[in-house]
Amino acid sequence: MIQRTLVLIKPDGVQRGLVGEIIRRFERTGLKIVAIKMIYTDEKMAGKHYADDVTWLKSVGAKQKKSYEKRGIRVIESEENLGRLVRKRLIQYLTMSPLIAFVLEGHDAIEHVRKLVGPTAPSDALPGTIRGDFSFDTYHLADDSKRPIQNLIHASDSIETAEKEINLWFKKEEIHVWRRIDEDLLYKRFED
Ligand code: ADP
Repeated sequence: MIQRTLVLIKPDGVQRGLVGEIIRRFERTGLKIVAIKMIYTDEKMAGKHYADDVTWLKSVGAKQKKSYEKRGIRVIESEENLGRLVRKRLIQYLTMSPLIAFVLEGHDAIEHVRKLVGPTAPSDALPGTIRGDFSFDTYHLADDSKRPIQNLIHASDSIETAEKEINLWFKKEEIHVWRRIDEDLLYKRFED
């Protein structure tokens, strides 16, 4: 299924000069860029992107708890409260300096992009993934420094969030319909 997905190169990726390297990783797989821009985002926009949604807040807190528990540390704070603290820090982080937003299109693009990006904590990410190759940040390091995990990338995680996020960051006229030359190889139907 041809899908579109939203990717942000977060401020740490831009600050560290990794924009070209990160885009290259997606482009060379055959994924097609259909929209792209640099934005200095504000708190309102960042707050809409990381919306105050209890299910997401709890999932963020749950991942953190699991990571601490693996190290034998019990966390008593509720998952929702942990998530709220992360959200507050995330909004500050996203507005720190410009970010790059783009939309990628391709077959099963949402899952494929998440695979190239790797899991939330770079310390858990395998070499070969963007987070695994360019960061070694951890939940604990981030927590100690009272900041979000610096993992370079945001990528939509479902069809619903992709649609919502693309509409949030891009106007319809900023998304382009065009054909990559290798699409003919990939999608051409042969006779048996
Ligand atoms: P992902 O970006 O992998 O989809 P989430 O949606 O769970 O992950 O979280 C959004 C972002 O919040 C992460 O990319 C990361 O920057 C930050 N983050 C998530 N959980 C934590 C945490 N426990 N401590 C610090 N930062 C976190």
